[in-house]
Amino acid sequence: MNGELYDALVIGAGFAGLTAARDLAKDGKRVLIVEARDRIGGRAWYRPFADTDFYIEMGGNWVDAEGNTALMAEVERYGVQLSMSPQAEHRVSLLDGVRSHAACPISRDDELDLQRFVQEVGTQVKRIDPRLPLDTQDVADLDVPLDSYLDGFGLSTTLKELMGAWIRQETGCHLSKISALHLMVWIPLLDNDVLAIGHTPTHRFAAGTIDLLQRMLDDSGAELLLSTPVAEVTQSAEHVEVRTHTGEVLRARGVVIALPLNCLPDVTFTPALSPDKAAGVAIGQSGAAKKLWALVTGLPPKLLGIGEHDEPIDVFFTDYPADETGLGGDLVVGFSTQERPLDILDRDDVEAAFRRYVPEAGVLKVDGHDWLADPYSKGTWCAAPAGLLSRYDSGLAAAEGRLVFAGSDIAHAFRGWMEGAVLTGASAATRLSEILAQA
Ligand SMILES: Cc1cc2nc3c(=O)[nH]c(=O)nc-3n(C[C@H](O)[C@H](O)[C@H](O)COP(=O)(O)OP(=O)(O)OC[C@H]3O[C@@H](n4cnc5c(N)ncnc54)[C@H](O)[C@@H]3O)c2cc1C
Repeated sequence: MNGELYDALVIGAGFAGLTAARDLAKDGKRVLIVEARDRIGGRAWYRPFADTDFYIEMGGNWVDAEGNTALMAEVERYGVQLSMSPQAEHRVSLLDGVRSHAACPISRDDELDLQRFVQEVGTQVKRIDPRLPLDTQDVADLDVPLDSYLDGFGLSTTLKELMGAWIRQETGCHLSKISALHLMVWIPLLDNDVLAIGHTPTHRFAAGTIDLLQRMLDDSGAELLLSTPVAEVTQSAEHVEVRTHTGEVLRARGVVIALPLNCLPDVTFTPALSPDKAAGVAIGQSGAAKKLWALVTGLPPKLLGIGEHDEPIDVFFTDYPADETGLGGDLVVGFSTQERPLDILDRDDVEAAFRRYVPEAGVLKVDGHDWLADPYSKGTWCAAPAGLLSRYDSGLAAAEGRLVFAGSDIAHAFRGWMEGAVLTGASAATRLSEILAQA
């Protein structure tokens, strides 16, 4: 390994890196994957819930089976089985101080305002081509904090809180920390359905994301170094040298950098990254969701809950009913954001949060992962803050010499989704093959 010259090194073994490695290997390249963690998958991590043997997804979870065409092509290629999260049968909302069990907890006036909102946003998104870099399009006026964008519509508190909860669940951050443009790009990809942003896709991997990830790795035949964080990437006219924190010095003709955006500052690049890429990296992404899993008793069957920002949990739903878990309760998944003090690993804290929705709720066990504190993600799924995309979208994704970049955080289409990771991994492999052919 040390001293050998590979055709390609792939740094990062998430969906993006594994897609790139598989495609490069299929193109006849000798590939080595270098991964900091002791497992593959990155922000997709299927592991047992608490101290049980029931497996759940800590990170990437649901697939839009119609829109996520690249991911679905991988699912079909390897014959991976999907299953479905159950449809909600009961609902509870806490909005503007009111608890409701209505399927649609807004007034008739709100419904009319919502129609007007959908129409206006629908018109604005027609200006966006979701497959092209946003800094090459005339959309800078939409690259503003989402809370100020929404304020422009004069919506009622209830409607704003309802939309805010769904948006926080979809983006994992406070509305001031995300650009309206980031969310608007999704709409043309979701069949131009503005309200689809509030529909969590229901398909999931029956045997976990690892099922697909492992098949991609096996199919690639690439070598893999786990527990090997990269420290330095130095390129010359002839090759690239990669130094790791564990002492390896690795060499290749080209490298795919498939790292989370917020982890790029931890690697020293020589020569330095281009000014546009460095400026985008310095801004970073804001996704900082708290995804929690709880084993809960006393809930109505297949419950969906949604609440205003004063509530510790924005959205939760029964993902595995008690008869499926065999654990004496429903396994419920919920979402919160960093600015609220909820400790997702504290049973009492989580129980108190659920009891605000359902006073009879009892929490037996909790689980979750702190992706923000994790040094190899430093955030959850990508949420672009205002000012990033309309200035640095091309720069973030651009190749630099023998380095090509991949990852869901820099995807033009489906940024923040597993789909975005697969799309960028595939195009990085194609780009690196072109670069190597010319070198
Ligand atoms: C809580 C949560 C819920 C999500 N839910 C969904 C969902 O339902 N649907 C969906 O489509 N997406 C979801 N996502 C997003 C999705 O998981 C990610 O967008 C996608 O997995 C990112 O893939 P990636 O390959 O771009 O990056 P990553 O998976 O982050 O891979 C990057 C890899 O780089 C490694 N690395 C970091 N630093 C170094 C270093 N110095 N040296 C070597 N390796 C390094 C990391 O360990 C990691 O393995 C969710 C994410 C989270 C966190």
